[in-house]
Amino acid sequence: MTQLVQETWETGWAGSGATGVPTDLGAFERAVEAFGRPLGRQVVTDLVAAGGPAARPRCAGCRAPLRGVDPARPVTVTGVVGDDVLRRSYSVCPAGHGSATPADAAWRLGPDRVTPTLAERLGRLAVETPFDREPTLAQALLGVAVDGETLRRLAEGVGSVAEAAEQAAQAAVAAGRLDGGH
Ligand SMILES: [Zn+2]
Repeated sequence: MTQLVQETWETGWAGSGATGVPTDLGAFERAVEAFGRPLGRQVVTDLVAAGGPAARPRCAGCRAPLRGVDPARPVTVTGVVGDDVLRRSYSVCPAGHGSATPADAAWRLGPDRVTPTLAERLGRLAVETPFDREPTLAQALLGVAVDGETLRRLAEGVGSVAEAAEQAAQAAVAAGRLDGGH
């Protein structure tokens, strides 16, 4: 084993809570997952930091430049690699129109604080699954703890996207028919 794999294995194996010598592929995979999640969170944190500050944001109400209050306000985000604390700028409108964290929009981070990728997966799961089983399945399949109410909202998001796509497709077909009639 290379040193990296050796360290990965030992950390992951210890982190998975397993004892003794592994004998099956499932045990190997759980150990790899246990290690990969914190590694993945660090990668996300580093990539976010590398993205740098956004252009100076303006108030949505009066278009005045926002006044920075905190350059690194933390937000706990649930993603495919688990919960992570990300930091982004927090600003207020000088005219009193409220506060803003523009990075949230750039990240496509919604009010549920679930990353877009995980939100899509959870939403699809919620669409296909009886309501009372969603949180249990999300934990078992995706390894994340999300309450049923959040899953319902995410499913609605997936549903509205699908509906918009369906309407666009129908409109395209209708337009094609009209064009074909000429
Ligand atoms: Zn304003």
